[in-house]
Amino acid sequence: MSSIRIDPAIESAIAGFEMPEHLGFGVVMAPVMYRCDYQDGRWWDGQLLPYGALQIDPAAKVLHYAQEIFEGLKAYRVGGGDVTLFRPEMNWERMNISAQRLCMPEIPRDIFMQAVQTVSAYCQDFIPGNSGQSLYLRPFVIGTQADLSVAAANTYSFLVIASPSEVYHSGNMRVFIERNDSRAAVGGTGAVKVGGNYAASLQSLRTTRAQGYDQTLWLHPADHRHIEELSGMNFFAVIDGELHTPALSGSILPGVTRDSLLRLAGVNNMAVRQRPMAIDELLQALQSGSCSEAFACGTATIISAISALGEASGECYEIPAPGPVAQRLRTQLLDIQEGRGADDFGWVRPIDASCYP
Ligand SMILES: *Cc1c(COP(=O)(O)O)cnc(C)c1O
Repeated sequence: MSSIRIDPAIESAIAGFEMPEHLGFGVVMAPVMYRCDYQDGRWWDGQLLPYGALQIDPAAKVLHYAQEIFEGLKAYRVGGGDVTLFRPEMNWERMNISAQRLCMPEIPRDIFMQAVQTVSAYCQDFIPGNSGQSLYLRPFVIGTQADLSVAAANTYSFLVIASPSEVYHSGNMRVFIERNDSRAAVGGTGAVKVGGNYAASLQSLRTTRAQGYDQTLWLHPADHRHIEELSGMNFFAVIDGELHTPALSGSILPGVTRDSLLRLAGVNNMAVRQRPMAIDELLQALQSGSCSEAFACGTATIISAISALGEASGECYEIPAPGPVAQRLRTQLLDIQEGRGADDFGWVRPIDASCYP
């Protein structure tokens, strides 16, 4: 493990923290955070600090040119047992793909693993223990060089903050089909986890909400015909008993949950199809009854069933939700994540003993 400095103020930060009764998602911040800075061509020692405001130069590149990447994963402690993480190496690998795309330095594996594990270990008493609850971890990297020229920064901070949380959105979702705007372009940053993608999704979200829907369904940026994903979740449908999801198109974010569900469906002996999925074909399949379910997935939400797909014209296709496939996959995945189900894939990682206080 790389070296880490534990700030002496950590102890009182932890002692002074009170868990509120209502958590929500990503609202309550855990009292510690990890930080590691990059300068002179290398990452320096990590630090565990009390959670608090950052000092940042107003000319820092992240504030002007959005040189920011992030990840999202959860630490689990259901039933009060050992703290575990779910497939954290997938987040590490993806973060480095995002880093490459934004010309940021890669994060060495031991720094990433030490960061997420140390934050989880010091927050062990703040990992809520009911099913569905977790400590949501948010690693992110920002370009900090104070310089308004458009170029990659030469200094960065890698931080991990954490939030004791409920499931993000556990109910059924009404989803609005976005036929005009695009979330991301092929060759752009849609396939990586950068904050700018979310900024680009907000205007459509506003229209979506104004029409009584919860989430936007994005279509392929070039043809506006093929389904991509939601703003922060991948899309699935059950058609003729098979599990369909849009093939990765270059502007779809390859989700860890998406990958996990595809593999779980495989062991359920369910046929899996990754293919271009035309929205109009899906709507026809809904009308004919061959499409029986639609749902979205992501780390925060796990699986959320889609109960309606709506158009700007006012047309709305109601879908029975939650359907049996979504419910079964959700139970299977959550059972593995929370330590009840057999971890046949080797996805669950205990926190290394050396990371605890
Ligand atoms: C994070 C994210 C997802 C879900 O990915 P998971 O690894 O399953 O959490 C899906 N789409 C977008 C755009 C995302 O940013």
